Amino acid sequence: MALAASDPELYAMLERERARQRDGVELIPSENYVSAAVLEAMGTVFTNKYSEGYPGRRYYGGNEVIDEVERLAQARARALFGVPHANVQPYSGSPANLAVYLATCQPGDVIMGQNLPDGGHLTHGWKVSATGIYYKSVPYHVRPDGYIDVDEVRALARAHRPRLIWCGATAYVREFPFAHFAEIADEVGAYFAADIAHIAGLVVGGAHASPVPHAHVVTTTTHKTLRGPRGAMILVTERGLARDPELAEKVDRAIFPGLQGGPHDHTTAAIAVALGEAARPEFATYARQVVANAKALGAALVEQGFTLVTGGTDNHMLLVDLTPGGPGRGTFVQEALDAVGITVNKNTIPGEPVSAFYPSGVRLGTPAATTRGMRESEMRQLAAWMRRVHDEITPYRLPEEREARNQVLREFREAIRQNRALEMMRAEVRELCRRFPVPGIG
Ligand SMILES: *Cc1c(COP(=O)(O)O)cnc(C)c1O
Repeated sequence: MALAASDPELYAMLERERARQRDGVELIPSENYVSAAVLEAMGTVFTNKYSEGYPGRRYYGGNEVIDEVERLAQARARALFGVPHANVQPYSGSPANLAVYLATCQPGDVIMGQNLPDGGHLTHGWKVSATGIYYKSVPYHVRPDGYIDVDEVRALARAHRPRLIWCGATAYVREFPFAHFAEIADEVGAYFAADIAHIAGLVVGGAHASPVPHAHVVTTTTHKTLRGPRGAMILVTERGLARDPELAEKVDRAIFPGLQGGPHDHTTAAIAVALGEAARPEFATYARQVVANAKALGAALVEQGFTLVTGGTDNHMLLVDLTPGGPGRGTFVQEALDAVGITVNKNTIPGEPVSAFYPSGVRLGTPAATTRGMRESEMRQLAAWMRRVHDEITPYRLPEEREARNQVLREFREAIRQNRALEMMRAEVRELCRRFPVPGIG
């Protein structure tokens, strides 16, 4: 109410974004809808406070309540993941990962992570990331079949003796081989960090194996499958403390004062709420349904004639390989699906034949659609729409030459704006969405 009255310009944008989230199917695998309670916790006076430091050790007065909030979030994180130490202050997943480097490495040390075009994350040593600039990155890859090449990981680790090895990815559809990574890290004396940003909700819901028995450190975002506010956590395991009894202090010092200033206390409050929700039995049901929906969507897409990287999925995510229709088609498919209200993201596929900007695949995920209550039958409906959308745009191919590319893209955008079949599908998608309210929006 206050916002609508005091800033109608911004309020109008909020209304449009609410409508967009309500009237379309969100299939971006890193996105989700938080509960009304999490949303409420974020919009509170906790945002007014400065509290640099940690509970009981602050640089500002007036932190009695904030200390309780942060201790509650820490305790819930420790209990949920079964770890002795949790830092809940990282602003997001990327700074959380940078803090792990700061805690375990010296600049110039060798580190290993999954190559970005193979599904890895920027912060696992990609060349334009601080992690690839300040550390010597030796990337590992997926095999042509899309699975992590564990033999290559072992060979590279033996040859380069890294200080830190990451396992975790942003576009990977199979169970992560955490035990293999632990064995390799132990053999070469490396720290093993698991980055479960995408799958944290599946891990706590029992729908994916936990890295906690294997890794020294675990990082995660809180806003993906875990369904909390935008933020992150760093967990130190028993194994981590056995390897280095000071690891927890090193991680805390890396976050503050190493990398960040005051924590975002309203976010910490909302993380505590989300962790409370994730501890309930309903959340395990949710996590299992996320995977069941992804498997159902995958099977339906294969039935519709699509090709999936690795042929299917073990988690919440699918990678569709669009090369049978011509390389570089990710952009076309993403934009045409957008036009009917289905949001996906273009993505590279293993052995990407074109580029990260014009990739040959799209990445889909079920966490958000599952939160609003969609099940297997809706997944089959979505796959049928994807087939129809794909068929509407089959003539469009990505030209090799740059000028021709821009020309084709312009024509393509004009054509999808005028396409009657897509317009009719847009109405059908909106109809489906009406039956599945979004938490906090309706
Ligand atoms: C999303 C993600 C991150 C980074 O999270 P941000 O909050 O976007 O900084 C890190 N690692 C992996 C594997 C991710 O998927």
